[in-house]
Amino acid sequence: MISGQVLRPGDNGYLATAAPNNLRYASRLPAGIAMCLNPNDVAQSILWSRQHGIPLITRSGGHSYAGYSTTRGLMIDVSPISQADFDPSTGIVTIGGGIRNFALYAALQEANVTITHGRCTGVGGAAFVLGGGIGFNMRRFGLACDQMIETELVTAAGTIVTANSTENPDLFWACAGAGGGNYGINTEFKLQTFPVSDLTVFRITWTTDPEDLYSALLSALQAGPSTLGTRVALNAVTPHQFAAGEDVSITLLGQLVGTPEELADILAPAYVVSTPAVATIKQMAYWPAQISFLGEPGVPNRYQEKSSFFIGLPSEEAIDTAFSWARRWPGTSEQAGLVLFQTGDQVNAVAPDATAFVHRNSDWLMSVVLDWGPDDGDALVQNNLQWQKDFYAAMRRFTTGAFINFVDPTLKNWQHDYYGSNLARLQSIKAMVDPHQVFRFPESIRPS
Ligand SMILES: Cc1cc2nc3c(=O)[nH]c(=O)nc-3n(C[C@H](O)[C@H](O)[C@H](O)COP(=O)(O)OP(=O)(O)OC[C@H]3O[C@@H](n4cnc5c(N)ncnc54)[C@H](O)[C@@H]3O)c2cc1C
Repeated sequence: MISGQVLRPGDNGYLATAAPNNLRYASRLPAGIAMCLNPNDVAQSILWSRQHGIPLITRSGGHSYAGYSTTRGLMIDVSPISQADFDPSTGIVTIGGGIRNFALYAALQEANVTITHGRCTGVGGAAFVLGGGIGFNMRRFGLACDQMIETELVTAAGTIVTANSTENPDLFWACAGAGGGNYGINTEFKLQTFPVSDLTVFRITWTTDPEDLYSALLSALQAGPSTLGTRVALNAVTPHQFAAGEDVSITLLGQLVGTPEELADILAPAYVVSTPAVATIKQMAYWPAQISFLGEPGVPNRYQEKSSFFIGLPSEEAIDTAFSWARRWPGTSEQAGLVLFQTGDQVNAVAPDATAFVHRNSDWLMSVVLDWGPDDGDALVQNNLQWQKDFYAAMRRFTTGAFINFVDPTLKNWQHDYYGSNLARLQSIKAMVDPHQVFRFPESIRPS
């Protein structure tokens, strides 16, 4: 018996609760959904599922790229555990394991503080932190997992445990970057916050001289200060569009703790090469900037992303390769391209083995992005997925590893790509806390 509701097929709210953000996986529906109100409900749900031999899966925000919070068994939904309490004396925020970004942002805004966070308001905070957690603040404050001071989780044995640097330190280490769904169900996190600063935020699109611009832009950004957070999208076109004169475009989105004049100085080498087609640059207070300028609702859609890390600037050859593939997109009713997130600085100030997040020497995280719509036929989608696979394979000559938060069901060496030299320790911790793989999905960590 749990204190929350158990939803069965046909119940009010069942379908809406079961639906993942990536509608590609929407047909995999659970036999039941345990809506957990507290850690004890979570423990009871785990024990019930084990007793009845029903596979379980954890759900909070439902934004797993690969649909890894869907199941035909029992979905343990922790989204009702969504409290957020800020302690002004320590600057620590304590959040529930089911909180979503919009509620987390509201609590942080009220306290005038921040953490490293993403842009999509529907993403769940727990899995975001567990997978490392990237965002525009990461070069200044590190990854979200670096801001984790403590977490509470319910283990495969149904035991509620606390993990921090002194209590269950192995589990704490694994929770800092190994990704959601591997070691237990996290019901609470304590995160160190930082005071907010006013920002200059920007969205700038270039459509002329794209290769030269791209190269100059990436160099200029890489030379920028740690107070700069950016995302650079190379927007793909089909061969037909390209032949008709419509070339790839480049969109820079980001924030700077500084003035528009300081931003102009940083971007000067790019402006020399090409004048933007559209530029919106605003000075805004921190949270209004996040919510009304940088934020996105992340409406449910069909998509696949394939990620990897650049160490240093992408070479000329890497840029040529990216452009040649970006101009060969088969086309869907949605969008595709290559997105680069600027990493470096405080992300790399932490040793690769200090947390489970091993990628501590990169300068850019790339993602080959592909979205499609409900009316794009199967053959078209398959054609696009093949293009994405080939694009990614071509880029992998220049990159290393993959990002667990952009979990990718098509990776071959996923364990090595996600975890690198931390894999063996992660496997031995799995053997200690979940030897029977109660927490299991296609790319879950296996016990050693
Ligand atoms: C539109 C969009 C924008 C994104 N932006 C960013 C970004 O800016 N930065 C970034 O780092 N990532 C980003 N991501 C990736 C996101 O952080 C991960 O997909 C994350 O795993 C999603 O968490 P969720 O709770 O929403 O998803 P879910 O599908 O509910 O969960 C994801 C995984 O974690 C497990 N899990 C969920 N809750 C818990 C819990 N409480 N305890 C243990 N395991 C749990 C699930 O079983 C599943 O395996 C984005 C994703 C999308 C779709």
